[in-house]
Amino acid sequence: MTTQGKAIRFHSQNIHLDSGELIDGEVICCPGEALEIIPGSKTANSIKLPGTAHIALGRVDPHVHFREAVEPTREEVETHGPTNTDYETLIGSIRASNKLYSIRSGCLAALKGGVTIVGAMGNTPWGPVGPYRHERTQKHYTENALLPIIVWPRMEPGAQPIHGHEGKDFGSTFGGSGLTGHVRQDMYALWKGEAVSYHNDQARPDETLLEFKNRVHPDQRLLHHEYFDGSTVLACQQETMDLAETIGVSSLLARHIPTGPALQQILDRTSGASYALPAEIGLDYIYWCRERLLDQKPETALINYRRPAHPSREDQLSLIQLTQETVRRGYSIFFGTDHAPHARAAKTFKDGMPGSPGTRNIEHSLQYYSELRTRYNYTWHDIDRLASINPAKHVSQYVDFPLEIGAMKSGAMTNLAIFDSDEAYSVDEAALATQLEDSEYHSTLTSEANLRGQSLFTVVNGTVFDVQSEVKALN
Ligand SMILES: [Zn+2]
Repeated sequence: MTTQGKAIRFHSQNIHLDSGELIDGEVICCPGEALEIIPGSKTANSIKLPGTAHIALGRVDPHVHFREAVEPTREEVETHGPTNTDYETLIGSIRASNKLYSIRSGCLAALKGGVTIVGAMGNTPWGPVGPYRHERTQKHYTENALLPIIVWPRMEPGAQPIHGHEGKDFGSTFGGSGLTGHVRQDMYALWKGEAVSYHNDQARPDETLLEFKNRVHPDQRLLHHEYFDGSTVLACQQETMDLAETIGVSSLLARHIPTGPALQQILDRTSGASYALPAEIGLDYIYWCRERLLDQKPETALINYRRPAHPSREDQLSLIQLTQETVRRGYSIFFGTDHAPHARAAKTFKDGMPGSPGTRNIEHSLQYYSELRTRYNYTWHDIDRLASINPAKHVSQYVDFPLEIGAMKSGAMTNLAIFDSDEAYSVDEAALATQLEDSEYHSTLTSEANLRGQSLFTVVNGTVFDVQSEVKALN
C-alpha cells in the first residue's frame, strides 16, 4: 500500500457501537485525525477484511510493565535520588534492565493484542518517583512509543505526589517490600485527596513460602498458587481499604483482582466508603486456574506463576460470573493484563523455589477475550466495556488526550482493534520473538489448543498498523 499519511478505509459488517449494536459500515482512519464512521454498505476502496472480521474500539490496558528506564545524569541523581545506591551501580542496573526489554517491544506486543493505549508501571530502576522523575520518565516513554503510554507515578515514602494523577502503591509487594504499616500510612498521607492504586497481594503474615513448602509439600507446579491462595489478597485489600479510609483518598483502584471473593469484597465496601472503588480484573485469571495448570506441559506450568497467584477453579468461575454482572450494571470495572516481560532465566525455579512472578500477556489479549465469548457467554458489548470503554473512562480522569477516547463515534480519537474472532490461533514463540523484537520471548499459552482470534489491524490515533505477522505502519 502506498498510503503514507493518507486515509485508509475499512468496511465491515460488525462495527461495534457503544450501545452494543453491531452495524454494517465503513471507518476512515487518517493519522492524527478524528474517526469517521459511515453506516451502510461499502462506498469506496477499502482494505479487504474477512466476512467474519470485527471493528471494535481500540483496547486500553491500564496495567503493563515495560521495564525501560531513563538514564539520569549524575547531577539528576544527586538532586532527585535515590540516595541508597551509588551512581555507577544505578546506571549498571538500568542498562542491564533496558537491554532485556524495550519500550518498542512492549508497544509491538500491545499492538498485536489490539491495545492502543497503555498504563505503564513504575517499578523500574530510577522509576517515576516524585514530580521531576515522573515528568522525565513520561517524556522518555512518549518519545519512544508507538502508542500513548501513561506512566503511573510511583508512591514512595517522602516523595511528593503528582496532583490530579493516580499514584501507584507498591508497598505491599516486592517493589517496596518491607514497608511497615506506619511508613505506608505516611506515604498515603502525602496523597490525601488524590487517587491511588495498589497491588492487592502480600505474603502470609505467619509463614514464609519456604516454611509452607516444607510443611505442605505441594505439587511443585502449585507451590506458588497454594501459598498465595486468595486469602492473601483479601487480607491486603482489607488493610488497604481501611488505610485509604483513614487518610481520605479520592479513589482507590485494586489492581489485578484474581478471584470472585476478592471482587465481592470490594463491591461490599462501596456503600460505606468515602472514596471511589474502581476494580481492575486480571485478564489471564479468567483463563488460568490451578486445575488447568496441571494439564499444562510441566515445563510451561513451571513458568506460569504470577502475583496474585492463579485462582482455584471455583474462585475463577465466581470471578467470571461476578465480573459480567458488575459490568452490566455500569460499575467502573475493567481488565488489565499485568503484562510482565521477564527474562527466561528470571522465571526458573532455583532450589525448588519460584523466581520472579509475572507473565507476558498483552499480545494475547484477544485470545483471552475469545475464551470469555466462547465458554462463558460474554457478549461483545461486555468485552468492549471491560477492555475499551471503561478503562478509557478511568484513565481519562488523569491524562488528557487530543480527542475523546473510549467512544466509537465520528469525531472521537481513531483507536481501533480490527480482528477475526473465529480464526483458530496457536502460539509460535520463535515467530513472536522476531515480530516483537523480544529475544527473551516465551508464552504460557504455548501448546494451548483451542485458542481463537487473530488480530488483523490495530489503529492508533489514525495510524493503521498491520499486525498479522510483522507489525507495519501502513499510512
Ligand atoms: Zn503489575
